[in-house]
Amino acid sequence: MKTGYLIDMDGVIYRENNLIPGAADFVDAMISTSTPFLFLTNNSAPTPEDLAVRLKHLGIHGLSAKHFYTSALNTADFLGETDPDCTVFVIGEGGLLAALHERKIASDAIQPRYVVVGEGAATMERLAKAHECVERGARLLATNPDNWCPVSSEKTRPGAGATAAFLESSTGRCAYYLGKPNGYMFYRARRKLAELALTDPEQVVMIGDTMETDIRGAFETGLQSLLVLTGSTKFEDVGDYVYQPTRILQSVADLVGEIKTGKPSDRLNSFGFSDRGSNGGKYGHRHQTDIFTFHKPRPRPAMTK
Ligand SMILES: [Mg+2]
Repeated sequence: MKTGYLIDMDGVIYRENNLIPGAADFVDAMISTSTPFLFLTNNSAPTPEDLAVRLKHLGIHGLSAKHFYTSALNTADFLGETDPDCTVFVIGEGGLLAALHERKIASDAIQPRYVVVGEGAATMERLAKAHECVERGARLLATNPDNWCPVSSEKTRPGAGATAAFLESSTGRCAYYLGKPNGYMFYRARRKLAELALTDPEQVVMIGDTMETDIRGAFETGLQSLLVLTGSTKFEDVGDYVYQPTRILQSVADLVGEIKTGKPSDRLNSFGFSDRGSNGGKYGHRHQTDIFTFHKPRPRPAMTK
């Protein structure tokens, strides 16, 4: 069965400025076996070209802009499909501006149809202008719902979700959030993956480190999902969620053999299920949450709204 992969980046391929061990072998294995793949990120600040350069500097070669799909591209696809003649007032960075420009969506600070909020520093002046635009009837759109994003293991920064929440609060209007876990992000990413592969992969699997975005979005769009423990989710926290990944892996290094041989590994061999024994000869458990008994207070709300 031909499997295609949608792959989150931060916490899956790299963390801070360090490549996760085995990530380069994982990408090499996909390239050498012509396995279709697409990197999927909620970060709307960089362009796909920026991301290819970033990965090259980290030691992953053979990638180009076509291998990346960002929430900025998803926002531009959304407007291009639903309202191609619209105008926008943007709070965001190069990746978002370039994506909208490519779709020929014009900037408008007078009477825009949408205020589009992306990742990046928002000045009080831009926020006040966006507020005015929404009060005059512009619809509020955010590239992604992340309230905060990791910068390092000890540091975070405010995300597009927090900026949009500011405008929701000041205008009383609700934003529409694109990016993961929105199904439109997965729908367009699957379409792009099929275009890249020149055929529709029989199975599409999402690989990610964040339950609220990667795993939830995959679940809600009917994709299999692999959770890796190299990023934002700890194994003992997985049971806090109603939706569960199809498999839990230590890292993408666990997939190298599977991709090279084309033989999917047994679900019970995956890290998350390895030491729990069998369940009356049945795979998995009656209820996924039965296997976890952790109820800990969260230090703060999840990354997304
Ligand atoms: Mg991530």
